[in-house]
Amino acid sequence: MSSPLLDSYSREIRYLRVSVTDRCNLRCRYCMPAEGIPLIAHEDILRYEEIARLVRIAAELGITRVRLTGGEPLARKGLASLVELIAAIPGIEDISLTSNGTLLAQHAAQLAAAGLGRVNVSLDSLNALRYREITRGGELAQALSGIQAALQAGLNPVKINVVVARGMNDDELLDFARRTLTENWHVRFIERMPIGESAVYDRKQFISAVEMQRVIEASCGPLQPDTVYGSGPARYWRIPGAIGTIGFIDALSRHFCPECNRLRLSADGRLMPCLFSVQEYDLRGALRSGASDTELAALIRQVVSAKPEGRHFRHEPAPAGRVMSRTGG
Ligand code: SAM
Ligand code: SF4
Repeated sequence: MSSPLLDSYSREIRYLRVSVTDRCNLRCRYCMPAEGIPLIAHEDILRYEEIARLVRIAAELGITRVRLTGGEPLARKGLASLVELIAAIPGIEDISLTSNGTLLAQHAAQLAAAGLGRVNVSLDSLNALRYREITRGGELAQALSGIQAALQAGLNPVKINVVVARGMNDDELLDFARRTLTENWHVRFIERMPIGESAVYDRKQFISAVEMQRVIEASCGPLQPDTVYGSGPARYWRIPGAIGTIGFIDALSRHFCPECNRLRLSADGRLMPCLFSVQEYDLRGALRSGASDTELAALIRQVVSAKPEGRHFRHEPAPAGRVMSRTGG
């Protein structure tokens, strides 16, 4: 393994999130407007071979983990071929996917065979009507069969991402928690962040991870601390005797910037040191104007050294125009 890629605050950067498309088949209310967002032109989206080249160079610098995200990554054709390209890169130890799950049933087995290790499925409600309302038209049954197919294909762990907001789905905390009693679901409750459609929101809708945990423990009893592979910023717990686990991502109420080990590559090839920083570095421009591997590696190092220490005002929105679907949530 190469020597660690360190930023200016001695954090080891090992993790690259890659948005493979800004397109999505859903329109979750907290993420995208109903009409969608202005789309990146096809020719400006990185080709799979281009992504694989950048990942190879990043791996030579010390990146070991890659997450494919979007938009909806499965809305882009042939994702398994990208997984295969990345799986063949020396030094990459872990490939994961974040998906809304609605197209996963058709693809889970092929993705697993190509080298995908695990998946996070975003699911904000277990009620079909509400799911349709939050996603503006999504079918809960499709997402559930996607989760089932992922488990059957041996993707492990399967994490279920639930963005929680008061008045949207906070009355379902216990329903999700109880699912872990009988299913191998690793449910992660996520505090909503001030970005995209949520950049400006009513603070009254905010629920902290501490409050979520209190609600669950009031009914299920004290949770036992646990660990799950690839735990990142989440902290995990288990209801005694449960098959799955419960995690909390306190993106706002706890400052996890000191532990941040990631970079983000947007679908149009911009590398970002932080979701909340204004800086973006145009790797696509460099790549398409003939930059050598050494030059691209130098650019990646520059982005790493531009990683800010952290965000000081946690409820301050992300830079205008930064949307999760393009940046890669
Ligand atoms: N379409 C895929 C999906 O929904 O999983 C991948 C992209 S989506 C942008 C990635 C994650 O970002 C999802 O879990 C989604 O719930 C989350 N997300 C989007 N907007 C958010 C916000 N304002 N606060 C917290 N999480 C958000
Ligand atoms: Fe699409 Fe994911 Fe955003 Fe929902 S959260 S609109 S599924 S990108």
